[in-house]
Amino acid sequence: MVIIIHRGTNQVGGSCIEVYTEQARIIFDVGEELPDKFQPEREKKLLIVDDLFVNSKTTDRKIDGIIISHNHGDHIGLIDSTREDIPLFIGKTSADVHNTICDFTSKGEKIKPYKYLEHEKSFNIKDIEITPFLIDHSAFDSYAFMIESNDKKVLYTGDFRRHGAKGKLTEWFYKNPKTHNANVLLIEGTNLYKENYIAETEIHLGKRAEEFMQQTKGNVFVLQSSANIDRLVEIYKAAKHTKRLFLVDIFTANILAQMPDSIPNTKTFKDVKVFYPYWLTQHLFKEENKNSLANKFAKYKLEKSELKQRTDLCVLVRENMLSDIEKRMNYSESSVIYSKWEGYKTDEKVETFLNFFKKNNCAIESIHTSGHADTNTINDFIKYSKPKKIIPVHTETPEIYVKLFGDIVVEIKDSIEYMV
Ligand SMILES: [Zn+2]
Ligand SMILES: [Zn+2]
Repeated sequence: MVIIIHRGTNQVGGSCIEVYTEQARIIFDVGEELPDKFQPEREKKLLIVDDLFVNSKTTDRKIDGIIISHNHGDHIGLIDSTREDIPLFIGKTSADVHNTICDFTSKGEKIKPYKYLEHEKSFNIKDIEITPFLIDHSAFDSYAFMIESNDKKVLYTGDFRRHGAKGKLTEWFYKNPKTHNANVLLIEGTNLYKENYIAETEIHLGKRAEEFMQQTKGNVFVLQSSANIDRLVEIYKAAKHTKRLFLVDIFTANILAQMPDSIPNTKTFKDVKVFYPYWLTQHLFKEENKNSLANKFAKYKLEKSELKQRTDLCVLVRENMLSDIEKRMNYSESSVIYSKWEGYKTDEKVETFLNFFKKNNCAIESIHTSGHADTNTINDFIKYSKPKKIIPVHTETPEIYVKLFGDIVVEIKDSIEYMV
């Protein structure tokens, strides 16, 4: 097997990894680079891969499959530009969430997977056998992979952590004898720049959210990503324990409708209700075929008068819903849980949102934890799985891997062939 990291040996996001043999060519992830304003120092690196994109050079070595680890933009963002005849592999819920986001943003086209990834269900692409393993990450339905061919074994972690609700899955992966002694481990290292960093667990974070909600007399507005399901579950539990009604907008309701029934949703959870943000609703009714996205949740709607009067709500919001809060909800004695990366606070809309609450003397609490592995998790991963070689990916500090694990770490550059 030969590995080429097309992008990711020295940056976070925009991931694209190729594994090929004499017979097969497979691409893992086709990510878009993260927005420049968060990494202004770094020059953009063009992703040039023969036969992958509509406008790539065509050779006689067709690509046999694109495998997507999870639906974050830095792993799937370039999927629209890839050639349609390449079979696509992704988790089912992951694909459904991606397509729901397409429906609402009118950006990008819906994907049509060739086959869905399933936990520990191996499949072959010519002479390469791939085994997906569900893994803990801030995106629901994320996978790591064991890739085998001609008695060689490569592991690719995708993005992962152990401090989320599904931490046991990560342990299952690295403690599983099947994954041990790999010839090469491709492992993410997003957080390695924070030396000896210990991440707060999602469960601990949920307890903090509950205490904060307990202290708030009015409504609690939670600024978080609708697709961060682990977080949403913790916030829901905190709301339930503090006897609040959990209120989501129609976009989030549609995302939740793609999830297994055990995840809070409007249909089977009586204490989950829906509201219709003004601009989003206008947009849905203006566009053909989109009415149903709004209409199907009509019976779970919280009535106008209740929305205006109630002070026992926990409302999941986005920064562009400020006018809905101002005009249609009760924000006296309310508070805000800021549950996103701190860096987003410099975004103009986020700033305006938070300033509104500051001016109204509402408490704002940052309650967030990383979607990526901390140092202890990485140490345990390597200790148990005992790889022969390590290639760091999805990191700006591959040299820290060298510092931690010595000469089994291979530091290669983007686009270089590495023979396994
Ligand atoms: Zn990523
Ligand atoms: Zn991710």
